[in-house]
Amino acid sequence: MTDAVRELLKAHLKQLRLPAMVQELEALSREAAASNQNYEQFLLRLTEVELAARATHALQSRIKQADFPVTKDFDTYDFTAMPSLSKPKLLELARCEWVDQKINCCFIGSPGTGKTHLAVSLGLAACRSGYRVRFFTAAALVSHLEKAQQQYTLDRFLSQLDRADLLICDELGYLSFSRGGAELLFQVFADRYERSSLLITSNLGFGDWGQVFQGDRMTAALLDRLTHRCEIFEMNGESYRFRESMKAKKGRKTG
Ligand code: ADP
Ligand code: MG
Repeated sequence: MTDAVRELLKAHLKQLRLPAMVQELEALSREAAASNQNYEQFLLRLTEVELAARATHALQSRIKQADFPVTKDFDTYDFTAMPSLSKPKLLELARCEWVDQKINCCFIGSPGTGKTHLAVSLGLAACRSGYRVRFFTAAALVSHLEKAQQQYTLDRFLSQLDRADLLICDELGYLSFSRGGAELLFQVFADRYERSSLLITSNLGFGDWGQVFQGDRMTAALLDRLTHRCEIFEMNGESYRFRESMKAKKGRKTG
């Protein structure tokens, strides 16, 4: 390739919005010449690079959009600390077929047992599988809904939530809501029924959800929809954090 041809080609690629091809053109064309690739092979390599860059950007933007509070993945979760939890089952969920099937998922149990950790891990897995995910704590979601209602932007916010293939609602039960807040949250959950997945973590067993949703009728209606097709994990036991800090203390005493 002469310099003039290369510069013109780069300008065309840029105009066609193929930045990774622009960036890799020189290296790949050197590589093609050195390994005697034909034109088609060279073009194939070049387009592969663009597609790979696009997939990476799309994933990064899905993760950003999800707004996870921390980055946690399955590889750092110690399944031996929670023997009641089936590792194969969880790794099966990491393949995200449940999101495709619009099934729900609940992690119920005491604090510090890794509910948020696993919710984020499953959310990341869904992003990697190409799904749109949104993560909220229950309190943040309710306050967002109430604010949107006051500002007459509720429909817009609800349709944003609707676009998410997986909505994660973390820490349901730590705070109770006003009647209006509970009704809005109920509306969001009920709207997703059989249309898109919901992942909820809670320190409260289902029998105590009436405290959050105020009123047994609303709670029963919600639980009926939520648990109809739902993977439920009970996560009870000692807090992992607490156990680790006790271990560290013991280590310092004996060490
Ligand atoms: P929960 O949401 O159930 O209150 P978290 O997911 O916030 O608990 O866990 C508290 C901390 O302990 C986090 O830093 C989390 O990564 C860690 N943790 C909890 N359980 C485990 C585990 N089994 N293996 C590794 N880290 C864990
Ligand atoms: Mg948590």
